Amino acid sequence: MLKNKTALITGSTSGIGLGIAKALARQGANIVLNGFGDAEGPKADIAALGAQVAYHGADMSKPAEIEDMMRFAAAHFGRVDILVNNAGIQHVARVEDFPVDKWDAIIAINLSSAFHASRLALPAMRAANWGRIINVASVHGLVASAEKSAYVAAKHGVIGLTKVTALENATSGVTCNAICPGWVLTPLVQKQVDAKAAALGISNEDAKKQLLGEKEPSMQFTTPEELGELAVFFCSPAGNNVRGVAWNMDGGWVAQ
Ligand code: NAD
Repeated sequence: MLKNKTALITGSTSGIGLGIAKALARQGANIVLNGFGDAEGPKADIAALGAQVAYHGADMSKPAEIEDMMRFAAAHFGRVDILVNNAGIQHVARVEDFPVDKWDAIIAINLSSAFHASRLALPAMRAANWGRIINVASVHGLVASAEKSAYVAAKHGVIGLTKVTALENATSGVTCNAICPGWVLTPLVQKQVDAKAAALGISNEDAKKQLLGEKEPSMQFTTPEELGELAVFFCSPAGNNVRGVAWNMDGGWVAQ
């Protein structure tokens, strides 16, 4: 379905971003990966699916590096047709204790990077009259949890940015939508599981159950594969008139 399209997924060396990259690769898209850590393993995973793959290590907190990444992707594959703004980090502390540098980093990586990548991708999408911008927000773009001020503020901002981007392009073939996962067992969440296990002196398995029990009625983690299929839907012809939605995949978290 996505043959001859190019998808750039930020923060795709791990977790949800890699899951979305694989799902888009299975549909035939060329893939541009981004993120820290080992890139060779993820590149090999994508190549094994038969897709063309490139990697750029831009630090998404740095606008100049984002500009370089977008130029690299256009030079490599001609154009970015699908942009998935996924890179994100977390830090947990009460407002009065929240380290200022962590606040700035979360706003830069989780919110401003989506603005920068989108502003740079939109002109070519508009010229082609086809494009998909998918912002990986969170249930925390819809509701809050204590001790996550920067994350919740950034994710609510991402949903606002999604709506504005959708409206500004509503009469074109460019759509913008947000995905709002509940708990997904990636390294980002494993850190929170480990912290809970250590704080309460309980096993990893019990910490996972507690984490789910507090928020997610299904008592199941959402998977990167499931989120990848939602991204594929947004890219499909049936997604042509889906504009500005924030679609949660959260085991009932936000229904409560
Ligand atoms: P993860 O830690 O597995 O992956 C994060 C990715 O972002 C990695 O590839 C990492 O290298 C990259 N990254 C981090 N900082 C970066 C930077 N400055 N520049 C470039 N890349 C950077 O986390 P994940 O759980 O897969 O999270 C992906 C997205 O999904 C995030 O936006 C997160 O907020 C969101 N999300 C996650 C969950 C969850 O339960 N895991 C739930 C809702 C939303």
